[in-house]
Amino acid sequence: MAYKFVDNYREKGARKKLVELLRERGISDEKVLKAIGKVPRHFFFDETFWSQAYKDIAFPIGEGQTISQPYTVAYQTELLHIQKGDKVLEIGTGSGYQTCILMELGADVYTIERQENLYNHTIKVLPGMGYHANFFLGDGSKGIAAHAPYSKIIVTAGAPFVPELLLKQLKIGGILVIPVGDEKTQKMLTVIRVSENDFEKIELDTFRFVPLVGDQAW
Ligand code: SAM
Repeated sequence: MAYKFVDNYREKGARKKLVELLRERGISDEKVLKAIGKVPRHFFFDETFWSQAYKDIAFPIGEGQTISQPYTVAYQTELLHIQKGDKVLEIGTGSGYQTCILMELGADVYTIERQENLYNHTIKVLPGMGYHANFFLGDGSKGIAAHAPYSKIIVTAGAPFVPELLLKQLKIGGILVIPVGDEKTQKMLTVIRVSENDFEKIELDTFRFVPLVGDQAW
């Protein structure tokens, strides 16, 4: 659907305003803000809903799932401290918007989605936009052992606990960002692997995510 890939002045202007809003809300990493300013979020929406694309809200993408709120995407991305060339595992591809933000920062992204329809959609849309991530269909709560270890791991759905297998797939010095809690609200956690057996956990703000569903999840 080539018509979707039109980035005109109205959308560009709305995107600039979104970046300023995120700055006001406390996002301070200029590289993250630049990436938000670059990726056309309206490409992930049906044209009927383009007016919603640059509001700081989550939005339905089908299968009972959502494209995350821009503030949440920026918040999680900031916590990852992405360096060019970082090998990043993303659990919950969803729309693929977060994937594009990570790639704008120079990450090599391995992204996994459990919903086949969403997976089939993103494997077409993202390469069409020039984002060639490594796409996987399956249960990401177990990580993707075949491609481990990862410099960074991001979970974009709410987990009941930190899956042990994700910790095992993190490089020493690596960072895992995961929302953990009950079905209603979750605390954002940053887990840093400081050595083979030592992990430092930091609990941050409260969010509301769709559930992480799988073997090591709900
Ligand atoms: N960052 C994504 C975006 O902006 O579109 C967020 C998508 S949504 C909040 C979370 C996604 O995680 C949903 O698409 C859901 O199907 C997926 N998900 C839930 N459990 C999963 C699992 N065990 N493995 C892979 N994906 C999972």
